[in-house]
Amino acid sequence: MQIFLNDRIVPEHEAMVSVFDHGFLYGDGIYETMRSYDGIVFMLDRHIERLNRSASLIHLTVPSPDNIHDAVYETVRANGLKSAYVRVTVSRGKGPIGLDPALCPKPTFVVIAEEFREYPEKYYNEGVKFIIAKTRRNLREALDPKIKSLNFLNNILAKIEAKKQGAYEAVMLNAEGLIAEGTVCNIFFVRNNILCTPSVDTGVLDGITRELVLGLAKGTGMQVWEGNFLPEDLFSASEVFFTNTTSEVMPVSQIGDVKYAVGEVAKRLRRLYRERVRKAVMDDA
Ligand code: PLP
Repeated sequence: MQIFLNDRIVPEHEAMVSVFDHGFLYGDGIYETMRSYDGIVFMLDRHIERLNRSASLIHLTVPSPDNIHDAVYETVRANGLKSAYVRVTVSRGKGPIGLDPALCPKPTFVVIAEEFREYPEKYYNEGVKFIIAKTRRNLREALDPKIKSLNFLNNILAKIEAKKQGAYEAVMLNAEGLIAEGTVCNIFFVRNNILCTPSVDTGVLDGITRELVLGLAKGTGMQVWEGNFLPEDLFSASEVFFTNTTSEVMPVSQIGDVKYAVGEVAKRLRRLYRERVRKAVMDDA
């Protein structure tokens, strides 16, 4: 595998980062996950924008948008990939022990691209199981979930809960007990034919897939509601699904003891999402 490290492509065995990198020592850094289809990195500009927002929220300098764009494509091509999982990571860089970011003169910039491993079609046909995690999502005032940071322990703890209970994913609530998001995804549900999803103000990452799916739903004339919701609202939903860059739109079959059939809204939105991907690939060709 070929990796983009700082300013050039190197073979994986040469892609080494210092044990004194503050990304490793303190989780001090940010990242983005993207997906390429037929060699085109979908919504790349939006991901670069969000990386820049995360960077400014932690006062980190990142390469210019053009340089990130070129590094991403260089990495995808160096690995001969069409359908890829792409991750851009920027950490504070190497520096002596201590929290002060000024200890690290140069950020570490890494792009990884590997063959995309498709999720089993069964997940889309039958849905996947969630639990409601006891671990609450980080307070916005403590570590804003809008920062896509390298410090993912909050979500990892919820994922551990899900796995212990034989579930695929977890719904995380915010400190007030409102539904926030999954450990790596945004949550949607349908009630009375209204598509509901927690508002960004509840303390979630404003997913790029979430934004696109909301637009697609509105385009079909569907009413959408970004608001404050309780777990009980999920339990009375006719269908539940989640979104993220890699899974696109995936149905939820169960949350705790409550079961859901795979719904028409999730199916329609996944189809429309796929059409949007196809269009992006055609436009870029
Ligand atoms: N929420 C969290 C905590 C995430 O980690 C992610 C993606 O990794 C999302 C939501 C979905 O974001 P996107 O649709 O931009 O992939």
